[in-house]
Amino acid sequence: MKVKKSTNGEIYKELEELRIQLQEANDLILAIRTGQVDALVVENDNGHQLYTLKSADQTYRVFIEKMKEGAVTLNDSGIILYSNSQFASMVDMPLTKVIGMHFHAFIPPEDKENFEQLFRRGWESDSKGEISLRNKNGEVVPFQLSFTSLELDEGTALSIILTDLTLQKQTERQLKLQNELLEESRLKVAKMNEELEDIVKERTRDLVLSREHFKFLADNIPVIVWTARPDGSIDYFNKLWTAYSGLTLAQSTHGLQTILHPDDFEAAVRHWNTCISNKNRFEFEYRLRRKRDGEYRWHLGYAVPFKDEHGQTIAWFGTFTDIEDQKRQMAKKDEFISVASHELKTPLTSLKAYIQLISNSKYLPEDIHLYVKKANQSVNRLQSLISDLLDVSKIQAGKLTFTTECFNLSELVASCIENISHVYASHKIKKSLAPELIVKGNAERIEQVVMNLVSNAVKYSPPKSDIIITAEKRGTSAAVTVTDYGIGMSEANQQRIFERFYRVENTSVPTPGLGMGLYIAAEIIKEHNGSIEVKSRPHEGATFSFFLPLVAGQRD
Ligand code: ADP
Repeated sequence: MKVKKSTNGEIYKELEELRIQLQEANDLILAIRTGQVDALVVENDNGHQLYTLKSADQTYRVFIEKMKEGAVTLNDSGIILYSNSQFASMVDMPLTKVIGMHFHAFIPPEDKENFEQLFRRGWESDSKGEISLRNKNGEVVPFQLSFTSLELDEGTALSIILTDLTLQKQTERQLKLQNELLEESRLKVAKMNEELEDIVKERTRDLVLSREHFKFLADNIPVIVWTARPDGSIDYFNKLWTAYSGLTLAQSTHGLQTILHPDDFEAAVRHWNTCISNKNRFEFEYRLRRKRDGEYRWHLGYAVPFKDEHGQTIAWFGTFTDIEDQKRQMAKKDEFISVASHELKTPLTSLKAYIQLISNSKYLPEDIHLYVKKANQSVNRLQSLISDLLDVSKIQAGKLTFTTECFNLSELVASCIENISHVYASHKIKKSLAPELIVKGNAERIEQVVMNLVSNAVKYSPPKSDIIITAEKRGTSAAVTVTDYGIGMSEANQQRIFERFYRVENTSVPTPGLGMGLYIAAEIIKEHNGSIEVKSRPHEGATFSFFLPLVAGQRD
């Protein structure tokens, strides 16, 4: 080889050119080092090739470095020309190592084919796809890859933005789960709704049915039926009412005055108003005018309040029962009792007189004496029954009259106990009597009351049990009590035993009686402006008490 001889000038010139080239090369290396230019030297078949990126702009570099997503740039063989530090940290490798690696290395085998397709398509147009990558913990993580081809000085490159879909997938999964739960709840609610609708339908049907039943019953029973609001204003009458009174519902609510007998109106309205305010059962007898013939007929007005769980009245259910015929029959019966007891009284008095005469006879054999004694006892019992019947008749006729005077009630009770102790030796009679209780009344009638209470106590309690009698002052009244420890009675019976001829049905202990004693006692006490009451529990005994007003000087 022939070497061309150069002049000194030429050598200097060449040296100067080489120096400039070196300077340029050094500047480039510095630019690459300081990140002013993205560049990479890749070794291939044609020796080393340097790649530099056009986008050496600092603003974008910072932006790409700071974003959450991974960003890489690949050449056409899939070599990573550029990677941001986020991608390096995703795959847990130093950035310097990642650059120059084959991107395929991070793709699990099952996703390789999928990636190949995306990779090919990415060169042609912007595209997206989902694949999995292994993260730094070796876990396969879902990513979304966005492909865009870039123009570099050295040819085209492919940039990929990698978005971690783990959180999104988790959110999607949670959302799906919540949606499923929501759907499940919706179905449950829908089912409950259906069930509720069924129940409502059933209840409505029951309600309609029971209302129809009520109307049917109310319109077909021979009793006037009505309902009222809590304040007592009537809001329903059955057909019988209209037929009887000739009034419509609207006319009835204001026109009851025209139907009720003038003598009964005031008392009935007063009692009805008291029952409304006390929310108590209403029971009253009055006469109602029949439209057909203008006749006033006795009716029993009866109403009960229907209350809610707080005891407030929701409605009143009431009836008017025609008791005219019963009243007439009762009047006939009373008349019969009155006549019969009067008629019986005279022959009985002479019978008693004859028995008395026979028993006084000296020549009577012993056994006949015994028969006469027994006959006398029966006559006495008959006399007391007839005397009770006469009393009942007198009370009915309003003729139970007696003279009154002041007497010591304590003394009267003491003398009653004295008599009783002889007659009822079977029981232990105990007493506690205040020394002086002066009342005004008829001593004989009050004695009748005491004797009745004590004879009942004996009748309805076992032999040898105690009977306690007390007489004491209570406020402005004198109180007499008779307590026994016998069969007692229910609350319901306590309400009724002062009624005429009322007897408690007690088949286990049959006792003679007609249910007149307490009725007469109550009427006598009422005539004395006093009151009578009973307190009792079944099988524990009973305490009957009556109260009479003390004379003025004796009151507290
Ligand atoms: P009677 O003649 O039937 O005893 P009363 O009017 O004296 O009539 O009494 C009415 C009813 O009250 C009785 O049938 C009885 O059931 C009940 N009675 C009265 N006194 C007592 C008592 N001391 N203990 C239990 N029940 C009683």
